[in-house]
Amino acid sequence: MTDPASEVYSPESQARRLRIVRPSGTVDLAAAEVAVRDLLLALGHDPDSEHLSETPSRVARAYAELLTPRSFDLTTFPNDEEYDELVLARDIPFQSLCQHHLLPFHGVAHVAYIPDGRILGLSKLARVVELFARGLQVQERLTSQVAGWLEEHLQPKGVGVVLEAEHLCMSLRGVKAAGSTTVTSALRGLVRDDPRTRTEFFGLTGRAR
Ligand code: ZN
Repeated sequence: MTDPASEVYSPESQARRLRIVRPSGTVDLAAAEVAVRDLLLALGHDPDSEHLSETPSRVARAYAELLTPRSFDLTTFPNDEEYDELVLARDIPFQSLCQHHLLPFHGVAHVAYIPDGRILGLSKLARVVELFARGLQVQERLTSQVAGWLEEHLQPKGVGVVLEAEHLCMSLRGVKAAGSTTVTSALRGLVRDDPRTRTEFFGLTGRAR
């Protein structure tokens, strides 16, 4: 047995680091350029005109970036203070691509959890949102993927995720609902089941209802 008096408090030694990589489809930039060129032609534009000659490669690179998740190191620490209230990161900006129109949707995410045994660096909540935002998405799935991921990797007492986004496919075309936002939420554990926590969560996100 270790003598507790001889233990030195060292948060680093208690840190657990995990490399997070989300697999995505391989982007063939050259093939994407050809396809964008064909799309321009099909839309009645001349891809060889002076103004459009660089467009296929720019578009291909832009889509590649929006579709490729960035890997990161997830570091968790023991919850030595036994903090058991909500931890909330509010107004995390994100952008994603709507899988129905290949147009962006963008807005802010509010991500909260109630720690159990481990806590995580606050900036990592934003990285988790980005991890799932980079790809072809629908807002509902993005919301539940962020919540499910935190539940799985942190095993907290509860998770709450709210996304507010403007979809360009809605605001630029069709019904032209400019300025309208779509709100989705995913609640797990105590945030879902305990009415007081749930009310507190929506109050803190500014989505009280
Ligand atoms: Zn859409």
